[in-house]
Amino acid sequence: MFTITQFPLPYATDALTPYISQETLQTHHGKHVATYIDNLNKLIKNTPYESVSLQDIITESANKPDEKKIFNNAAQIYNHNFFFQGLCPNCMAKIPQEIIDNFGSIENFKTEFKTAATSLFGSGYTWLVQDGDKLKIINTTNADTPIAHNMKPILNLDVWEHAYYLDYKNRRADFVDSFLNNLVDWNFVAENIRN
Ligand code: MN
Repeated sequence: MFTITQFPLPYATDALTPYISQETLQTHHGKHVATYIDNLNKLIKNTPYESVSLQDIITESANKPDEKKIFNNAAQIYNHNFFFQGLCPNCMAKIPQEIIDNFGSIENFKTEFKTAATSLFGSGYTWLVQDGDKLKIINTTNADTPIAHNMKPILNLDVWEHAYYLDYKNRRADFVDSFLNNLVDWNFVAENIRN
């Protein structure tokens, strides 16, 4: 039997302080994500989904109303894994040239990303995606994910309140600034654009 297992964080739980506290990371990864994994494994037990990849579960359950719970839990696992992979402590990586070429400057990129992330009403994610040969910034709500819409994820920011409330309370904009200025792993971004 195939079960989805928890993915490890690529850094220690205190590595992202002061921008994301150890308490937030432990709760976010150790409780919220763990619950999605637990839920999904229960939902797919004794179904054909037991033997396919997480990505296939997402794309096959998308747009099927009676499989909404499966989609939501699977997409949340994928979205969180992607989010945590895209962060790094004390990143000194170079901004990829593709970002400058597509958005005009890193400042324009940050402004556009921040505008999207702060205007997303309710829960969801702000993404940098590749759509055809163009890089663009989009929002998805709740558990929705670009891989259900034939877009390639490059970077994402979780703006569900659980991602920042312990550290920033209601100040989502400050969390977005910390992400853009101190946490993005630009090597991860470059690899995703080029692969
Ligand atoms: Mn989250």
